[in-house]
Amino acid sequence: MIRKIDKKTVSDALHTAYDRCKTESGGKNADYIPYLKNVPSTLFGIAACLPDGSLLTVGDTDFRFGIESVSKVPTALLAMEQYSDREVLHKIGADATGLPFNSIMAILLENDHPSTPLVNAGAITACSMIKPVGDSTGKWKSIIDFLTALAGSTVEVIDDLYRSESDTNFNNRSIAWLLKNYNRIYDDPMMALDLYTRQCSIGVTASQLATVAATIANGGMNPRTRKRVFRAELTPRIVSLMATVGFYEHTGDWLFETGLPAKSGVGGGILGVVPGVMGVAAFAPPLDAAGNSVKAQKALACIARELDLNLFGTTRCTLAEPVPTEA
Ligand code: GLN
Repeated sequence: MIRKIDKKTVSDALHTAYDRCKTESGGKNADYIPYLKNVPSTLFGIAACLPDGSLLTVGDTDFRFGIESVSKVPTALLAMEQYSDREVLHKIGADATGLPFNSIMAILLENDHPSTPLVNAGAITACSMIKPVGDSTGKWKSIIDFLTALAGSTVEVIDDLYRSESDTNFNNRSIAWLLKNYNRIYDDPMMALDLYTRQCSIGVTASQLATVAATIANGGMNPRTRKRVFRAELTPRIVSLMATVGFYEHTGDWLFETGLPAKSGVGGGILGVVPGVMGVAAFAPPLDAAGNSVKAQKALACIARELDLNLFGTTRCTLAEPVPTEA
């Protein structure tokens, strides 16, 4: 069945989700990165970006927060764009670990490859692959330029967050060296770690995340700038990775409830992609035990229900608005 929806239906769903979830008080801010502990816990925003480029927002959608693990999505895409999806599958993999995002056990258990670019180990490997190999400045430019193109607006590192992460990332340091031990790092391990830490420290708004999600939903053409950012065939690849591991050890529960492929970060952001339909994002700092925003999950689950976004459902929602062509 096809359900035609319009902008107003989407906007109403955002407001319904906001009203239903704004009093949710579960979870607590990440505290293993000191900067994140001090972000106001009551911030809450939801945004959707549609294929015609319109941005619908409610709440704190202009607040800049740490992108954290959501950054694994753009860098995985960039690695697939620079090499190929096959090469990333071969060098990293696409299997969920079923374990926490920073699991060392997962690496020990699966020492033939790091499993997926959407957990820390695979993301550090992805950073090591980014071209130009051996050139930290050049690699960083590739990463930040790619995210800027996906978001359609400038993004930059939050310096205090970067310092806070760099001073405390001992577990990730171990992961980088362990990967090196298994020949699963393709550049200097500490350079790869630093790039990973820096990309996690990039500040984004919920509106920017929704635009990134919409660019993915739109097959790589940013609906706001109308510029092509990546090859259309990579959308199903990255969406499948998000669906299988976007919420780490809680991914199955999330997919069971919502059928919405999405990716969370410990900064409180979540990005959700409905291929061919829209990108959605929500932000609220308090997290559950797996490191996923409690309020943002509730809000996106509510929107998925209201708009029939479940990819496994029998109803396909489509937008009535005409879609502009590539610039
Ligand atoms: N920078 C964080 C870390 O490596 C990101 C984790 C996350 O968002 N899940 O621990």
